[in-house]
Amino acid sequence: MSKENNKNNNQAKEIQTTEQKNLFRALPSMDLVLERCEVNLSELSLPFLLTRTLLKEYIGLFLDQIRRDIVIGKIQDKASLSLEVLMPNLLGFVYKKAKPHFRRVVNATGVVIHTNLGRSLLAESATKAVLEASSYYSNLEFDLNSGERGSRYNHVTELLQKLSGAESALVVNNNAAAVLLVIDTLCKGREVIVSRGELVEIGGSFRIPEVIERSGCILKEVGATNCSHLYDFERAISPETAAILKVHTSNFRIIGFTEQPSLNELAKLAHKHDLPLIKDLGSGSLFDFSEVGLQILADEPTVQQVVDADADIVTFSGDKVLGGPQAGIIVGKEKYIAQIRKNPLNRALRIDKMTLAALEATLRLYTDKKLAREQIPTLAMLTAEPELLKEKAYNLAQMLRSELNSSFNINCVGGSSRVGGGAFPEKDLPTTLVRIESDKFSADKIKKLLLEADTPIVGRIEKEAFCLDPRTLLESEYAFILGALKGILG
Ligand SMILES: *Cc1c(COP(=O)(O)O)cnc(C)c1O
Repeated sequence: MSKENNKNNNQAKEIQTTEQKNLFRALPSMDLVLERCEVNLSELSLPFLLTRTLLKEYIGLFLDQIRRDIVIGKIQDKASLSLEVLMPNLLGFVYKKAKPHFRRVVNATGVVIHTNLGRSLLAESATKAVLEASSYYSNLEFDLNSGERGSRYNHVTELLQKLSGAESALVVNNNAAAVLLVIDTLCKGREVIVSRGELVEIGGSFRIPEVIERSGCILKEVGATNCSHLYDFERAISPETAAILKVHTSNFRIIGFTEQPSLNELAKLAHKHDLPLIKDLGSGSLFDFSEVGLQILADEPTVQQVVDADADIVTFSGDKVLGGPQAGIIVGKEKYIAQIRKNPLNRALRIDKMTLAALEATLRLYTDKKLAREQIPTLAMLTAEPELLKEKAYNLAQMLRSELNSSFNINCVGGSSRVGGGAFPEKDLPTTLVRIESDKFSADKIKKLLLEADTPIVGRIEKEAFCLDPRTLLESEYAFILGALKGILG
């Protein structure tokens, strides 16, 4: 019982009238309530673990609430304190409290890489690999050829080399860690040259200037917000320079009169001065969207193209467009990767075995582009054909209409989905939305009530109507949407 509750109870006791004392006495005992609860809950067979300790705590909280209701006069008769009468509310209260805090939701927002909703879903082969890696011992750091200690990083190095064309690779906890580790290793105590147009904040307070400062480096800004020229970089180079850093501006765009030297020009300049060119790609892609006619996503260079442009180090996220687990992937020249690998900070940022398992399985899919597009959910969602999305929307709307009769007004309209994850901020992907309106509930109310469902439905409001975007919906989730809408109607 919390301190707050104790205090309330003490106050409650001070001002009890005789009737209230009688009501308190009529309240069923903890033991009795607990026993009844356990019987009822075992019949329900909860889909999550609820220990006796937690159950007792929740019942305690519920009974405290009842005591307060007695004190404020909300409960005045013994009849409403019988176990029979209390049970339904109590079970509802306990169920709500006991549900796991971190749980599944249905993403109907159409934002594919939704950072708040867990970014990318893993391919089935990747989830299987995670299950295996977490359920059994593995050769995580064990060399099966020599029978001696091995390195956890070797498991994905070869695949990353093959897929990116880079000499070497290293993987850490996330891309923020990758950038930090790279700069800390290669630039500590010296200057890092960055264009003024790329001193971005990514979100979650990851700011390029601060990361550079934190790594004990000196930021050397060049150019103007909209334009940086090759000669700006050239003039900034001094004996103090450690590297040139290029950062993908991810979540914002400078449009109009803009200019940046090409990566290859910068690489040549860097190499002339024996400096590394580091490129933080953010949402790096190993998939060339132009090959599937998705020109809208094809303007961004792939990881392979950045490596081809002769960047020395390239960093990108595992769970953005790549569609794998949270990870920071570093590919590039072995002479730099070798130094980065040895940095003691690497140990603090290291990748765990479940992530490695998921990453290897995801990367393996990329060795067959067709398979990658079909089986990596992020790629499948990003490349879904507008015709298919229209059909999905019509099917979903049809099903909801027939199951819900005329309780809601449901129809389909053209709309757009987002890539998300800070990638391609100004690019909309065409989709068909299912609009759900009601005479009884406002769009805001529907949105709120759907978040309270057992499996919460996260949608968005557009033109004053609650909307579902089929792009990010799995067909198996339609039943959750129907259930949640039925729940609203009570
Ligand atoms: C997203 C992003 C990061 C951070 O990556 P995480 O994997 O979220 O840590 C860093 N740099 C850029 C340019 C990004 O877009």
